[in-house]
Amino acid sequence: MPADPPFGSLQERLRACIRDVPDFPRAGVAFKDITPVLVDARLFQDVVRALATAADGADVVVGIESRGFIFGAPLACLLGCGFVPFRKPGKLPYRTERVSYGLEYGTDALEAHVDAIRPGQRVLIVDDVLATGGTAAAAVELVQRLGGEALGTAFVVELGFLHGRPRLGSLPLHSLLTYE
Ligand code: AMP
Repeated sequence: MPADPPFGSLQERLRACIRDVPDFPRAGVAFKDITPVLVDARLFQDVVRALATAADGADVVVGIESRGFIFGAPLACLLGCGFVPFRKPGKLPYRTERVSYGLEYGTDALEAHVDAIRPGQRVLIVDDVLATGGTAAAAVELVQRLGGEALGTAFVVELGFLHGRPRLGSLPLHSLLTYE
C-alpha cells in the first residue's frame, strides 16, 4: 500500500523539521540544522525535487562545501547535469582557481578545479542556507572566472533578516523557506 501523503505544504514541513541550535558555532548565532530533513526520506526527496524547479536550463550544478554537496549532488543526478564541488582552500588535488571573501572576522575562500566548468556552461549554485550572501556571491564570481554563466542560486533556507538576497543583485534566487 502506498504511504499516506505528507501533511502540509513543503514550507510548513520544512519549518517543522529544521532545528534551531542557539549559540552554534558561536554565541549569538541561531544555527539552522538541516540534518533532520535528511533522515525524513520523503521530505529530503521533496526538497530536491523543489530545488529542481529553479534549475531550468542548467548544464552544471555547483554545490558549496559542505552542506551544498548534500543537496546539490542528488539535484544534479535528478536533472542529468554534472556536479561541481566548490571547496574550502587546500582540499582539491589538482590546479585550482580561488575567490576570497570577507567574513565577520577575517576572510575565507572557495576553490574549484580550473577545468571544472567549460566556457559557456550554464550553472546553478546550491547551498543549504543563504545568510549574509558572501559565500554565494563568491561562488558566482568563481563560476564567472572559470568561464561559466551563473544561471541562478538555490537554497533550502534563506535568512531574510541577514539581507543576503540584495547582495546577489538581479541573479535569480530561489529559496524554499524564508525566515524573515
Ligand atoms: P553567508 O556567506 O553569510 O551567506 O553564509 C552562508 C554559509 O554559512 C552557508 O554555507 C551556510 O551553510 C552557513 N551558515 C551561515 N549562517 C548559518 C546559520 N544560521 N545556520 C546554518 N548555516 C549557516
